[in-house]
Amino acid sequence: MTVVKDSGARAPLPPFGEEHEELRETVARFVAAEIAPHVDEWESSREFPRELYRRCAELGFLGLKFPEAYGGQGGTHLHDAVWVEELAHSGGSGGVAAGLNAHTSIAMPPIFNFGSEEQKQRWLVPGIAGAKIGALGITEPGAGSDVASITTNARRDGDTYIVNGAKTFITNGVRADFLVCACKTTEDGGRGGISFLVLEREMPGYVVSRKLEKMGWHSSDTGELSFTDVEVPAENLLGEENGGFKLIMANFAWERLLMSIGAVGAMRRLIETTVAYALDREAFGRPIGKFQAIRHQIAEMATEAEAARAQTYDALRLFHEGRECIREVSMSKLLTQRAALRIADQSLQIHGGYGYMREYGIERAVRDARLGPIGGGTDEIMKEIIGKTMGL
Ligand SMILES: Cc1cc2nc3c(=O)[nH]c(=O)nc-3n(C[C@H](O)[C@H](O)[C@H](O)COP(=O)(O)OP(=O)(O)OC[C@H]3O[C@@H](n4cnc5c(N)ncnc54)[C@H](O)[C@@H]3O)c2cc1C
Repeated sequence: MTVVKDSGARAPLPPFGEEHEELRETVARFVAAEIAPHVDEWESSREFPRELYRRCAELGFLGLKFPEAYGGQGGTHLHDAVWVEELAHSGGSGGVAAGLNAHTSIAMPPIFNFGSEEQKQRWLVPGIAGAKIGALGITEPGAGSDVASITTNARRDGDTYIVNGAKTFITNGVRADFLVCACKTTEDGGRGGISFLVLEREMPGYVVSRKLEKMGWHSSDTGELSFTDVEVPAENLLGEENGGFKLIMANFAWERLLMSIGAVGAMRRLIETTVAYALDREAFGRPIGKFQAIRHQIAEMATEAEAARAQTYDALRLFHEGRECIREVSMSKLLTQRAALRIADQSLQIHGGYGYMREYGIERAVRDARLGPIGGGTDEIMKEIIGKTMGL
């Protein structure tokens, strides 16, 4: 029987078409040549170079879904999905993907969707050019899943807001030039009392208090930030005052989808690597992949990955068509993150002792995948959302 490789030579799967597959090839070539060879070094130094944003911008990857008028490529979320999947598939680093995608797909969309023309010129244009790096600040030491309970507050004082509070677990929090920051703008806060302000790192009182050490995603920075009487001009208000909860919810859909798509790419990589290893590694006089136990294990891994991909692509299709998709996106997030973690662990088992060693990248895949069921809304929150859409 011939082994058919999954990546590359395949017919486009909906919602993708030929032009997306061409982009896929381009991204894969770039990531394999300019990212993958450096991942070990960046993981050890706990940071990928800032220059990488510039390089990705130069090739158009930071602005795939944004209009040409702002320096983007004028594409859609489908082009961005190709970038996200192939970055995970060919790059093999959750940290690099997190650092790049937190900027392009979490911090910049609120500016594009809710910002004024002047705000787009200030942050979106340099963001797409890789000259300014953004982060999104919602989570606080005392408020994660319960986003409506944030306490960082912004008190209006004439033409400025005075911001006090703290944020934690912020991807790009250390290196970000601007922070799209959720603040309480009424006494009570909550759903009707949250607004978004864009804070800039040079503002007095804006302090990066810590770079956090974590289990995986080593090459991305995760910061803790504190704000003491930070004076933020009222013109930095994004969208309507007290309309921030809507912005949070709008952003979550794409963030969760991109995490799902990234997991799809990571699973493809793991299965390809594991099949190759199982054909190469011998024990008891034959390749380990020829033992039925291993063959069945890999068959199950591939089936689970394929089911997760099909479900995710379907959620992506609904999102792209502008249809209601909160249930499908939440299902994708729930399904893919656990599947990626399970498949990474099974892949490590098949690699034996070599899987446990750093040089194979499999142990990193396990550590990186562990974040999936927590970040961007936990598994438990996904189940709550899915249950509610079913009237429960
Ligand atoms: C590496 C990393 C990067 C991150 N990047 C960002 C970022 O860039 N910006 C940002 O704003 N945030 C970021 N986060 C934060 C992330 O979104 C939160 O960690 C996540 O939403 C969970 O919040 P929490 O950690 O406070 O957990 P908690 O909300 O305290 O939850 C603890 C546990 O209780 C469970 N739980 C909570 N409520 C319920 C419920 N109603 N029913 C059942 N179980 C429940 C949770 O599922 C979880 O298991 C990042 C986190 C990490 C680890």
